[in-house]
Amino acid sequence: MYPEPIAKLIDSFMKLPGIGQKTASRLAFFVNEMPEVDVAEFAKAIVSAKRDLHFCSICGNLTQEDPCNICSDGLRDPSIILVVEEPKDVLAMEKMREYRGLYHVLHGVLSPMEGTGPEDINITSLITRLHDESVKEVILATNATTEGEATAIYLSRLIKPAGIKVTRLAHGLSVGSDIEYADEITLLKAVEGRREL
Ligand SMILES: [Zn+2]
Repeated sequence: MYPEPIAKLIDSFMKLPGIGQKTASRLAFFVNEMPEVDVAEFAKAIVSAKRDLHFCSICGNLTQEDPCNICSDGLRDPSIILVVEEPKDVLAMEKMREYRGLYHVLHGVLSPMEGTGPEDINITSLITRLHDESVKEVILATNATTEGEATAIYLSRLIKPAGIKVTRLAHGLSVGSDIEYADEITLLKAVEGRREL
């Protein structure tokens, strides 16, 4: 019922999270009415967001350079590693501007229901990093969901025998909440009030 180029664009928009048929078709027609230079810029940005970003070989964060600018920043404190689920959680933490340690991005959580085991997320490289004796504390900042909690417990059991302090974010973050949506004050309090596991 739509001309093919519009139908294709609608299909593409519908692959994005939270976008249904109706929104997709509204967006597709909007794109058609945009100035051509803006459309070209938009298309370039989409390709670049995929092609020019890689995972940091140390921490797993999204980056253009490898290692990322956090791992290669000599002013950051290498004795603390804050473990998060996704690269967007690093951004949320960085927005608060208080945390000066390093990160480790798991790219997921343990989920028996979905068949995600320890070998499916970025755990091995975390353990390798802990062999470096300068690490004194690991802060587990997985989300306050069932899977996030289970992953934190799993990691603490894995890390504690190495004599490294393991802490968990205090949950002023409400149960089931995602770090990426927490405001900066809540995050700051969660980090300050972290408890030892
Ligand atoms: Zn990094």
